[in-house]
This record gives sequence, structure tokens and C-alpha cells, in this order.
Amino acid sequence: MASASFDTARRERRADPSSLDAIEKAPEVRPEAMAATGRTSLVGLTRFALTERLAAIGVPEREQRMRSGQLWHWINVRGAASFEAMTNVGKGLKAQLAEAYTLDRPEVVSEQVSRDGTRKWLLRMPPTGRHDHNRGAEIECVYIPANDRGTLCVSSQVGCTLTCSFCHTGTQRLVRNLSAQEITAQLVVARDRLGDWPGQTPPKGTFVPVDGSRFVSNIVFMGMGEPLYNVDNVIDAIGVMSDHEGLGLSRRRITVSTSGVVPHFERLGIDANAMLAISLHAVRDDLRDELVPLNRKYPIRTLLDACRNYPGVSNARRITFEYVMLKGVNDSDAEARELVRLLKGIPAKINLIPFNPWPGSRYECSDWERIERFSEIVFNAGYASPVRTPRGRDILAACGQLKSETEKLRARARLMLEDGIGAEGVYAAAADD
Ligand code: SF4
Repeated sequence: MASASFDTARRERRADPSSLDAIEKAPEVRPEAMAATGRTSLVGLTRFALTERLAAIGVPEREQRMRSGQLWHWINVRGAASFEAMTNVGKGLKAQLAEAYTLDRPEVVSEQVSRDGTRKWLLRMPPTGRHDHNRGAEIECVYIPANDRGTLCVSSQVGCTLTCSFCHTGTQRLVRNLSAQEITAQLVVARDRLGDWPGQTPPKGTFVPVDGSRFVSNIVFMGMGEPLYNVDNVIDAIGVMSDHEGLGLSRRRITVSTSGVVPHFERLGIDANAMLAISLHAVRDDLRDELVPLNRKYPIRTLLDACRNYPGVSNARRITFEYVMLKGVNDSDAEARELVRLLKGIPAKINLIPFNPWPGSRYECSDWERIERFSEIVFNAGYASPVRTPRGRDILAACGQLKSETEKLRARARLMLEDGIGAEGVYAAAADD
């Protein structure tokens, strides 16, 4: 990575949105950089990377496929946390593996549990040297349980280069892209914490689906970052998460939410076969330019044309459009009707998201009657238009309000929680069943 692009990415937030070209590149952390810090973990690696690690410690080529299959099973099906547990791996190889590698997960710095069962984890990735001042990047992921599904909201970048004006994450500078391994490891940590491996049970009092569904049945890329600015790693992570001999999630239950990085739609659709969600939030370019500055580069018409052409889009695989309800800004009847007109011909559903103000935000949430009226217009035009229930308000588990709120929380935690103050909620926006 050129230091120039790193410097660019580290610039102060709220930069000139006209410099969008400059912000599309985020620092990558190669596995070699992580290796400089000592033994590296095998958790979350792709099959290819796992095989490479075996080759690196001298496993003969003729054995590599079989051995990586064994490791793959232990890591991704059994949730093994030590090489010792791998009963079908010989003693010698286990010792070799333990000498070179670990099965460590990202460190769980804090876990907060909402009264509604939502869980938020602050995770610290292993230090990567100069990229994160040897401290290890911190990101959050959030688990949102329901009776019939468990949704994990994962981060794809540390911070975000975009500056969506309604989003708190957009006020944080970008540190770097997460690797595919670091993205996948968020799922592994969630399954650890939920007791979701064979032979385990959830800790007492944990809210998990009650209808026999998997504890983590859905993944949404709606945490920190713009996933399509890290598209290679996101696609690789989806490959690991959905491998049917491993973590085994259905790709129909993996949703990638983007502010509209149009050039990567085709790759995401073809290579990851994931569900697509669009942060739309406005029906006019002048307003969307302000709310989602990337709109200056890929305006609404271009964005919606790309949606019409999204590989595999159909009534069974509808695109989700997210629309945050901002009082007096984007919530009129006329805008609801325009939304319906714009989406004509796109198999779509619309998630209406009540805005929850964060400190320093310039918007207010629309009144409830207004949200209902907006929803009704969209619904009467034939689109599903659920109003997303805020989740995890009491733990500040929020799209767009992740790490920074947690940092503040350390200082203000007890006071705020005791007062029941929560600035934001989480909106489960899982793919359709
Ligand atoms: S809404 Fe998404 S893309 Fe926009 S600033 Fe927030 S995290 Fe970044």
C-alpha cells in the first residue's frame, strides 16, 4: 500500500465530497503484515489461504488438500479453539501447527446486552503494525435475535470514508479495510458467545431463535464501513461464511448494504450471489447529494439502472431499499409517491428506518403519524414497507453509531445506562426467508 493513499484515508472527516475519487482506496492489511506480530490465527481464512498456511510449514503437496479439509471442518463446523481438540490430526502436525499458528479469535473488549436481547460486541483485531499504531483496530458487531432468525450485523472497514450526513460512523476517519479473515471472524466470535457450536448450549438468559432456526441465520453488512469499497475481502468472507461444508449460511440470507458503489454491483452479484440493499434515503439528487455524498458520483438514475441489472434480481430475490425517516427533509407524501415511481420495475422492498439522533446530528426523526402515512403510500403501491423497530436502544447498538459511541460509553456508561439513555437503535434488516 502506498503511503500516499494511507495519508489520504487518514485525513480529517467531513472532507470535500467532490474528492470522492481519492477516498475509494482504503489501506489493505496483508497477512504478511500481521505475521510480523507473531503467530497468526487460522480462524476465518479462506480454503485457499488455509492451504497456503499448510504449505508454509512444510506439509507435502499431496497431503495439503486432505489436511486443509480437516482443519476447515474443525474450525468452521466444530468451532475448535485449540489444535489439541483435533482428534484426527496427527500429533506431529498438531505440534507444527501450534508452533506456527493459533486459533485465536479477535479479542472481545466488551459485550453489552440489551433488554431486548440484542448483543453488541466491541472487538479488537490483532495489531497490524503501523496501520493501527500496534494497538489493533477496534470494530463492532451486533447480534439481533428474533423468534425465527438471528441476524448478525458485521463491519467491513474500520471507520468509513464516506460522509453520509445522517450517519455517525461517517464522522470517524477511515483506518483501513478489514481482511476477509477479520470479517469472517466476527461470525465465529458471535457463535462462540452464543454457544452455537456442536455440543454447546447458549449461556443462561441468552435470547436466541426459538423455532429451531440457527442462532446466527442471517448476516447483514451494515456495520462500520462501505462494503463495496472492500469488495474483494467481502466476497471472500461471504465465500467462507456460506461454504456448505463449513459455516454453511445461505447466500440468500447474506445481505450487503451499499450507499451505491455501482461499478461493483456486478461482481457482488456474480461472485458472491449475495442479496443487495441500497441506502437510498432520498428521491431527488440534490437531497441525496447531501445525505449520501457518493450520489454526486453515482446519481439516483445510474444507481437504479444498476439495480435493475443486478445479477439474479427477481421477485424471490428482491433488492432492499433503506430509507431513513428525517422530519421535514425526506418524509412528505410527494416523496413517498416519487419513491414508488422511481422503483417501478425493480423487485424491491423498502425498509423505513426511524432516525435516532446522535450528539451533533442535524436531523430529527419524522413523527410517527408521518412515518405511517409514508409507509401506507408505499404499501398501497404494492411494495412491502416495514417500519424497522429500533433494537438495542439501551446499549447504543446502532447502525452508524458503533465504535465511537462505545468509546464515549466507557466514560459515561453507568450514568447513561442507569438513566436509560440510548441515542440510537439497531434495525434488523435481514434478507427475506
Ligand atoms: S451510512 Fe454507511 S457508507 Fe455512509 S457513512 Fe455510514 S457507514 Fe459509511
